[in-house]
Amino acid sequence: MLARLGIPQNQPILNANNLDEVLAAVARINRERHALDYGTDGAVIKILDRAEREQLGFTSRAPRWAAAYKFLPEQKETTLNNILIQVGRTGVLTPVAELTPVLISGSTVSRATLHNQDEIDRKDIRLGASVLIEKAGEIIPAIVKVIRHADGAAPYSLYDSVHGKCPSCGGPISQEEGFVAWRCTNFACPAQAVTSIKHFAARKALDLDGLGEIVAEALVRHGHCTTPLDLFSLTEETLANLNLGTEESPRRFGEKNAAKVIAALEAAKSKPLHRWLYAMGIRQLGESAAKELSRIHRTLSEIPDSPVLAEILRDTRPTAKKQNEFLAKYSITGDVGPAVAETIVTFFNSEAGRHTLARFAELGIDPVSDNYLPIAAEADLSALPLAGKTFVITGTLSMDRDAMKELIEAKGGKVSGSVSAKTSYVLAGEGGGSKRDKAEKLGVAILDEAAMLTLMQGE
Ligand SMILES: [Zn+2]
Repeated sequence: MLARLGIPQNQPILNANNLDEVLAAVARINRERHALDYGTDGAVIKILDRAEREQLGFTSRAPRWAAAYKFLPEQKETTLNNILIQVGRTGVLTPVAELTPVLISGSTVSRATLHNQDEIDRKDIRLGASVLIEKAGEIIPAIVKVIRHADGAAPYSLYDSVHGKCPSCGGPISQEEGFVAWRCTNFACPAQAVTSIKHFAARKALDLDGLGEIVAEALVRHGHCTTPLDLFSLTEETLANLNLGTEESPRRFGEKNAAKVIAALEAAKSKPLHRWLYAMGIRQLGESAAKELSRIHRTLSEIPDSPVLAEILRDTRPTAKKQNEFLAKYSITGDVGPAVAETIVTFFNSEAGRHTLARFAELGIDPVSDNYLPIAAEADLSALPLAGKTFVITGTLSMDRDAMKELIEAKGGKVSGSVSAKTSYVLAGEGGGSKRDKAEKLGVAILDEAAMLTLMQGE
């Protein structure tokens, strides 16, 4: 019916009347599939008769009248000549095998992803090896195993092969705890330009209204930006003329949008330090860690030489933040620990990090903290009007008891639950029987609310 109506069908469709004919059809598809204009790794076998379908029914997961037959992938032997390291849009370093080209499943394969160092170790992949390859799902070429190593080939180390540096920008690379991938941690890495500009402009970062992924892509494609800081060198004219479309069908960003972005960039210059830190898209530096860092540091330029971060890295005890005398003062939260410190210190002290700081200086931008409070203020309690006095509250007050307790504590007093000889005053509201009695018996002064407020004012 589909054919009669002119609705396209996936070809070929073969008819079979018994199991032998089904197997023959499957074998024929397997022989001929590489000549199809699409890639396939199997065939679907279906019962056509509707009554039979109903009789067969379903299991809990699938119909009993349809099944997929998967062909074994074609495998070929070839030589691994080299391993390239690609830097993805999020900074992940991916090893890619360069192979002697070989025809497999209908196309020539000369590259295969090696995923990561763990995969390389597991398969003991070394340069020059003879390897067996196949196309996983008939699409993505993969190395199945090593057949034999080249004479004298050493185990392969991704880190060593790039000399510990990002092949795209020369920035530092790091391996996150619990993750196998190596990542470039340079905020200004050109391979990550689109991703980092997009993140930089996000609402929780610098909130550059009007600067989304399409604009970021166009800016990078046309060579206007290789890092987020390049945004600050853009002119309104460049932005207005930015082509968001293609060469054949251009689409200008326009004057109005350009003015909006320029205004947002200008406003960003005075955004607080924690926003800037978050905007830099440093791995492991989320919003809370950024806030905690800006609580401890006054400006961005203080962070590279931060004595606090240096001490976190130096004192490796798990309880260092509490037991280290220098660190304890800062009451640092769990958001900032050795992992964050390591990432930040490594980045700012790398060549890429120093270059980034130099750009900040050139642009005259040094973001300032809006929550700077490195050491919780130790108020001089002895100077407060209620210092050294203990209060017991009883009866019903005109305000909530907890609110009164807070007021008393804010003025340096203490609030206790029971009356004793050590009690300085009993604050008695309406009612308040037994505590008032006890106070009278012990000769403790009893205050009403009015007297309490006078006392609080220090009169
Ligand atoms: Zn990089």
